[in-house]
Amino acid sequence: MMAPDRTATPAGSGLPHVAPSAGTQEATPLAHSRLNADRAVPLQVAVLGSTGSIGQSTLEVIATSEGRFAVHLLCGHRSVGRLLEQAQAFRPRWLVVTDPEAAATIGSGVLPAGTELAVGPDRLAELVAAPEVDRVVSAIVGAAGLQSTWAAVAAGKTVALANKETLVMAGPLVMQLAARTGGAVVPVDSEHSAIHQALRSGRRDEVHRVILTASGGPFRTRSRESLAAVTREEALNHPTWSMGPKITIDSATMMNKALELIEARWLFDLPADQLGVVVHPQSIVHSLVEYVDGSVIAQLGPPDMKLPIQYALAYPERYAGPARRFDFTSRHQLEFEPPDLDRFPAVRLGHEAAARGGTAGAVLNAANEEAVQAFLDGRLQFPQIAILCERAMAEHPFEPEPTLDDILRLDAWARKEVRTWMC
Ligand code: NDP
Ligand code: MG
Repeated sequence: MMAPDRTATPAGSGLPHVAPSAGTQEATPLAHSRLNADRAVPLQVAVLGSTGSIGQSTLEVIATSEGRFAVHLLCGHRSVGRLLEQAQAFRPRWLVVTDPEAAATIGSGVLPAGTELAVGPDRLAELVAAPEVDRVVSAIVGAAGLQSTWAAVAAGKTVALANKETLVMAGPLVMQLAARTGGAVVPVDSEHSAIHQALRSGRRDEVHRVILTASGGPFRTRSRESLAAVTREEALNHPTWSMGPKITIDSATMMNKALELIEARWLFDLPADQLGVVVHPQSIVHSLVEYVDGSVIAQLGPPDMKLPIQYALAYPERYAGPARRFDFTSRHQLEFEPPDLDRFPAVRLGHEAAARGGTAGAVLNAANEEAVQAFLDGRLQFPQIAILCERAMAEHPFEPEPTLDDILRLDAWARKEVRTWMC
């Protein structure tokens, strides 16, 4: 069940107000489709978080799209040098720097002709809503991605969503907003891309359950006792995926799977008891849908984010792109094992937050962001991340049907509490 319509954003939330419309549209993953049939007119893409891992892969997909896509807007936070290089290569109409201090380091005359600089998250939220924008790639990391993703959905855009934190925090509100505005959220997260594809094999009432695969991260075989001593470097060394630091730590704790359970809960409107996790160390099977007759439909491919990015940008079309292909001419072994909830309690927290809904996801996410940063800074031991998240979830004043302001308030509450507990 979706939460009731409470998406009007009170003043001070930092999020644009959207007038409710009478139209209702079923928020299925397959509800939206509009790709350029005529490649003489490329779809204009806004790439949010272009300086990050997903952002850079997105630009590779666009560069090899043979004119299907063009860059309208690039947005980075602090990596100004990389952003300027991207601007020279892709010549966007807009270059957005969300961090004003970083923007101030950009000298005059360094932007390519035809590119204008805009500064700050509010300007970003305005620019993604512009009529010229056809696709928005939401690849800012963490809760910072919510405002611009919300603005894009509010403007009825098709959003290729990597920023899972948006749905973890405010899934029901975002999906309801999309249903009202005609916007669409197409997942970039590889598991959700796999599920999105596998759901095309049957009717929704034929789905028995959805199983997310997890690599198990770098500590899949480590003893529980040894986890207290793991270092930042060990945790940042993911066995199969190359990603930004925050999600890499999330993969090591398996909090990433917790966030993905919540993401799937809202993206596909599936109850938590229809969602499961299986550990699959090779990261070839990206997730599975089991239908009522016992058929299991999976999507396979080497671990390469360019494929789900391309799928989300081009959906519902497919074309031969730059992603690596699975090699069936050599020998492979695919393993599956249940997650160890004792060593990786984060998975349990994800199930709990997906089942509870309300503010549980936002609080889990905020506590996790604070704890992960503390671990990366050397201020927190690895197992403490899940412990602090569990405490925040247990102690927070739960709100079953929150507004965006409630969500932002509890996000701030959780961050403050976690910081206090770490002192
Ligand atoms: P990175 O750390 O590589 O990149 C993060 C991006 O966000 C950078 O462009 C960074 O800008 C920008 N950014 C950071 N803080 C802010 C802020 N406060 N305001 C605006 N922009 C900010 O992360 P990833 O690319 O790995 O991940 C991005 C998102 O995609 C995350 O939500 C992650 O969970 C999700 N995702 C990633 C996958 C992957 O394979 N990497 C797979 C599935 C999902 P700058 O560098 O200029 O400071
Ligand atoms: Mg994923």
